[in-house]
Amino acid sequence: MPDIPSHASVVIIGGGIVGCSLAYHLAKRGCADVLLLERRKLTCGTTWHAAGLVGQLRATQNLTRLAQYTTQLYEGLERETGQATGFRQVGSVAVAASEARFEELKRGASMARCFGLEVQVLSPGAARERWPLLSTDGLVGAVFLPKDGRTNPVDTTQALARGARRGGVRIIEDLKVTGIHKSNGRVSGVATDAGDVRADIVVNCAGMWAREVGEWADVSVPLHAAEHFYIVTQPIAGLPSELPILRDADACSYFKEDTGKLLVGWFEPRAKPWGTDGIPESFAFDQLPADVNHIEPLIAQAMQRVPVLESAGVQVFFNGPESFTPDDRYLLGEVPELRGLYVAAGFNSIGIQSAGGAGKVLADWILDGHPPFDLWDVDIRRCAPFQRNTRYLRDRTVESLGLLYAMHWPFRQAETARGVRKSPLHDRLASAGACFGEVAGYERANWFAPTGVEPRYEYSYGRQNWFEYSAAEHRAVRERVGLFDQSSFGKFVLRGPDAAAVLGRMCANEVDVPPGKVVYTQWLNERGGIEADLTVTREAVDSYLIVTSCATQARDFHWLARSIPQGARAVALDVSSAYAVLGLMGPCSRDLLATLTDGGLDSAAFPFATSQLIDVGYARVRASRITYVGELGYELYIPTEFVQSVYDEIVAAGKPFGLRLAGYHALNSLRMEKAYRHWGHDISDEDSPLEAGLQFAVAWSKAGSFVGRDALERQRVAGLRRRLVALALERDDRMLYHNEPIWRNGELVGRVSSAMFGHTLGAPLGLGYLSNRGEPVTPEWIGAGRYEIEVADERIPARVSLRPFYDPASERVKQ
Ligand SMILES: Cc1cc2nc3c(=O)[nH]c(=O)nc-3n(C[C@H](O)[C@H](O)[C@H](O)COP(=O)(O)OP(=O)(O)OC[C@H]3O[C@@H](n4cnc5c(N)ncnc54)[C@H](O)[C@@H]3O)c2cc1C
Repeated sequence: MPDIPSHASVVIIGGGIVGCSLAYHLAKRGCADVLLLERRKLTCGTTWHAAGLVGQLRATQNLTRLAQYTTQLYEGLERETGQATGFRQVGSVAVAASEARFEELKRGASMARCFGLEVQVLSPGAARERWPLLSTDGLVGAVFLPKDGRTNPVDTTQALARGARRGGVRIIEDLKVTGIHKSNGRVSGVATDAGDVRADIVVNCAGMWAREVGEWADVSVPLHAAEHFYIVTQPIAGLPSELPILRDADACSYFKEDTGKLLVGWFEPRAKPWGTDGIPESFAFDQLPADVNHIEPLIAQAMQRVPVLESAGVQVFFNGPESFTPDDRYLLGEVPELRGLYVAAGFNSIGIQSAGGAGKVLADWILDGHPPFDLWDVDIRRCAPFQRNTRYLRDRTVESLGLLYAMHWPFRQAETARGVRKSPLHDRLASAGACFGEVAGYERANWFAPTGVEPRYEYSYGRQNWFEYSAAEHRAVRERVGLFDQSSFGKFVLRGPDAAAVLGRMCANEVDVPPGKVVYTQWLNERGGIEADLTVTREAVDSYLIVTSCATQARDFHWLARSIPQGARAVALDVSSAYAVLGLMGPCSRDLLATLTDGGLDSAAFPFATSQLIDVGYARVRASRITYVGELGYELYIPTEFVQSVYDEIVAAGKPFGLRLAGYHALNSLRMEKAYRHWGHDISDEDSPLEAGLQFAVAWSKAGSFVGRDALERQRVAGLRRRLVALALERDDRMLYHNEPIWRNGELVGRVSSAMFGHTLGAPLGLGYLSNRGEPVTPEWIGAGRYEIEVADERIPARVSLRPFYDPASERVKQ
């Protein structure tokens, strides 16, 4: 047994490329008291057999930034450490065999420009010049990323390990971690085959074992392994050694030159989950049995794209396991359940290209106590607790692997492991024609198909099949009244004599308000960034109801729970499942509700931003006069078992008012016209309320201070370097989704953070931050610009406004 230290500041479990990258970056930051424990040998899990593609373009800005950093790191790693890495910046060509795929590639190219990535859009002929063995049959176009590359995963991991050791990190191989210790809600160390190690921080980098490692501490790490296939051909005469990587996503395949041979790998649409009952104890440098039948149809397609394969002969048929997550994004950060326990796992077959960036930002996160920038896309706090369910993970993994190369359609919905979390109204909505979308397993009506129309998506980059149905829902809300099932909201109660003081410190807005008042507020971090965006209702002097979105339920609840100081007399409860929510929205909502309740509803009796317990039908419900759509309206919080009867009453009473059921796509269109911000897109932990135009929700002079106030004050004095604006495209034949570049007088000044077609305004709308080369962004500067938004390589004129385009004075809301 090796001699192990009794304590380390940081213990890393797992010596794959991710664990080694983290160790390297901790050492770079001067944190040397790090112990990395590997149960067998470095790289023996998944890393050793990776194909070694290192691409940079990811679905979002920050993930692209991380992949970009990885390339830069690998480029210099051999020079720095003296350990060969095999990294070559050969570039990559991605080809499109359909117009839709070409649009996807061109939209990606436009996004890449936002982040300073070099990218060229190519004709099929030009693609062939870069990749001479390519058949251009059926190709529509291509893009070329000159800075993409490939690397040797084993050598690169060894180089990171060498860099880490030089920085003082201790790496011990052949020593298995067997347990995680905790004390007082914190991690306190690990158990190993050679005894215990006390630790302040433990990081779970155990690859496909990470779910099981999480279970030791009763922590959810939702990932599942799947079989992943590639072949290596016999040597091919004359194969250029600096051939770029080729990706043919329509044929689910990638191609890489590999010492005079071709390596061809696949992301097939229906994958084979593996290791559901646990990863074998003995697994090290192993491979799984070949399954030629599974991959055969794709081999035939690959031969059509690269005809030389027909005669090349196969030298290796490789099948190795890799871990996948339910949403195809990796899991990073401190787990919500246990302080000091971090995770970096579930890399969905892009762990080599992600490891550099993920290791760097996780090192920063650990040492600084917060992520260096918005990492919500990969933050483990996005996961719902149920997602550790093994059957759910296995079933979803069938689909996850193929998603990497599937069309990334706007509004694309998962097809596997559906119907997990349902509102009590689910069946009623389904029989009314609802087409459901899923958020954290919750089925929510996105739009309603009229009688005779099947409620299913037909995807495209243009107006999809539901466009007109959703437009009708939108118009009903603007002109009459619409009913939304918003039961998926996260709902918390904070109760106790100190509840007001605790919440007062957390909220930027004033929440020490009379009972019955509803407050829209943000929770800020010390840097002034927005951690949460929610409504707070004072139910009683010592009790608050806090409402947030479905997607942030776990994150926000843990922020709340962790913000209660020791000894404070306040307790937080997650009551999300106790209440269903109906949003009754539109100019006729008051008159409709009046037919079902005896209480007064006019503005004197029931003003905007207040909440009351009222009778509706036979039930007693909490009605809150607030809106996310910009009209008069009420959110009804109904004890779950009453919601079906209340819903039936409303639907029956709604007939004379022209009530229409409405879904989340209409909600999004309505909120976009009002420029209401959406956390996770328009606002995040790196955006301040001042930059986001939410200063109206900052109570500068409230008694006592609030977290983040000093940072806001500094920003206010210095002037804002970026500002969120509303955008409207001047043409209605192209759709905005998000991440489209914004140009001002021919200069790139920002990107669209969220978007939707606005049916009242008749235009594609967006929100986005503008910046001015580090100078203050003033209303005058904004007003003086000529704007364009780039959609799939084409710049289209746009209007820009600091105020919402629809009802900027919010008169309709307060009527
Ligand atoms: C066929 C194939 C091709 C791929 N091609 C690419 C590619 O081209 N580009 C790309 O970016 N990605 C690729 N990938 C994905 C990439 O290989 C993985 O995402 C990456 O290697 C994951 O690294 P990791 O460090 O998270 O996991 P691993 O490499 O599996 O490391 C985890 C380590 O933890 C150790 N461990 C587990 N439990 C314990 C314990 N209790 N105590 C101590 N140690 C423990 C394991 O032994 C293992 O060494 C490919 C994957 C496959 C299967």
